[in-house]
Amino acid sequence: MASSFPSTSELVADARRLYGQVFGEEAPLTAVCAPGRVNLIGEHTDYNQGLVLPMALPLLTVVVGHETSGQDVTVVTATKDADEPWRVDFSLASDESLCPGLPSWANYVKGVIQHYRAPPVPGFRAVIASSVPLGGGLSSSASLEVAFYTFLQQLKPDDGDKVSKAIACQQAEHTHAGVPCGIMDQFVSVLGREGHALLIDCRSLEATPIPLADPSLIILITNSNVRHSLTGSEYPMRRRQCEEAACILGKASLRDATMKDLEEARNRLDDITYRRARHVIEEIERTYQGTEALKRGAYKEFGKLMVESHNSLRDLYEVSCSELDELVSAAMDVEGVFGSRMTGGGFGGCTVTLMKAHAIDRAILHIKTRYSGTPTFFVTTPSAGARTLSLP
Ligand code: ADP
Ligand code: MG
Repeated sequence: MASSFPSTSELVADARRLYGQVFGEEAPLTAVCAPGRVNLIGEHTDYNQGLVLPMALPLLTVVVGHETSGQDVTVVTATKDADEPWRVDFSLASDESLCPGLPSWANYVKGVIQHYRAPPVPGFRAVIASSVPLGGGLSSSASLEVAFYTFLQQLKPDDGDKVSKAIACQQAEHTHAGVPCGIMDQFVSVLGREGHALLIDCRSLEATPIPLADPSLIILITNSNVRHSLTGSEYPMRRRQCEEAACILGKASLRDATMKDLEEARNRLDDITYRRARHVIEEIERTYQGTEALKRGAYKEFGKLMVESHNSLRDLYEVSCSELDELVSAAMDVEGVFGSRMTGGGFGGCTVTLMKAHAIDRAILHIKTRYSGTPTFFVTTPSAGARTLSLP
């Protein structure tokens, strides 16, 4: 069976309980949440100014808290998978307090305070609770950043511009977590819409909601529950290879390059750079085609593009791993499955599978039997972006 995950109100209740334990009787005044995401197609294209098609998840990060009169900050996470200690205390009066350090999870919080667009923020106490698995490729990091930014907006409002909010959160991840990520994760965590995937043009930063609420469909996420340590070093390397390819092609980014440009320049590119660029150029086209297919309800066609995307990530971009390949191949055995692919940065994490709703039990059973590890399953629906929550 698929894993059940806590509802928003259960997460808020967990966070409030912990808030009471840590801070005594004082009740939090503010509650907000921001979702994790799954990317349906368009992988490793966001930092190439390309197209991506993610959706916001019902898995989310909640922040509850309270402004204080001074400049002291205390933040506690309820998530035991984060590195200890689970509580941090610092003063906004000190310049060094926002410098990255340990525990590493607090760097996301500090980065968001640093890049908040209406400084200075007042002191506060906050508790984080989340249903997004950490490091599973569903972007717990962006959901934490965006939830925290949304929390700060309640303490001291900024101008409310959503694109600037996503960019500020992306900056936080660059400067404070050292991850040179694209804009997709933060963008969809801010702007996701219930019942819709979001086509994001990462060059113009235009977002188009694409309806995805057919009750005969299921979007199944399978967590491989492995994460290879390569992720940290390989991601920046892929970025550099793409920049190099764009430079050799004389383009501002690979978004501006066609397969014809690439083939014409082939003898000026080494084999690896060629393959990286080819993945990106074709993946952007697949994302465009996939979006058009979804709009028509052509799920078979969309599924075929998902598998092509996976194969390209495996063979050309080389960011898959045997566990993800096994999960995709097992899913594709099942009648009623349209398509399946790795999702997120790669080297572990999750796959996403588009399938007929009636095949779900068979699919889960089959994948469990065929996978050499221990998978976790989430049956998900496209959900809303960051929002404030009412406290009872
Ligand atoms: P992903 O975004 O795919 O889940 P990342 O490695 O980018 O993986 O981000 C995971 C990191 O984000 C965690 O190691 C932790 O530092 C931080 N994080 C995310 N959610 C929480 C949370 N609820 N509490 C504390 N830290 C969190
Ligand atoms: Mg992340």
